[in-house]
Amino acid sequence: MASNMSQQQFENFTASTLYCEKCRATTPVREKLLLVLPDREIFDYLCTECGSSVGQREVTAGEKMMAEAVAGRNRRSVPLRSLR
Ligand SMILES: [Zn+2]
Repeated sequence: MASNMSQQQFENFTASTLYCEKCRATTPVREKLLLVLPDREIFDYLCTECGSSVGQREVTAGEKMMAEAVAGRNRRSVPLRSLR
């Protein structure tokens, strides 16, 4: 696992467990960056028990900037850019 996942800020960033149909149980999941698009990123959630995909999440550029602003706090305000 990446070392920065042990930091507290990661806890309120994503769901850490999801229901896995293969395991028939709620299992811890691993978030994997699946696809990067100009205005959003697609994350894949993988079951840590069997490795199968149990869900996906789309993060828009706006959400990502907010998450980064919270995580990094390196900017006081994020300028709005037109993305389309
Ligand atoms: Zn599973």
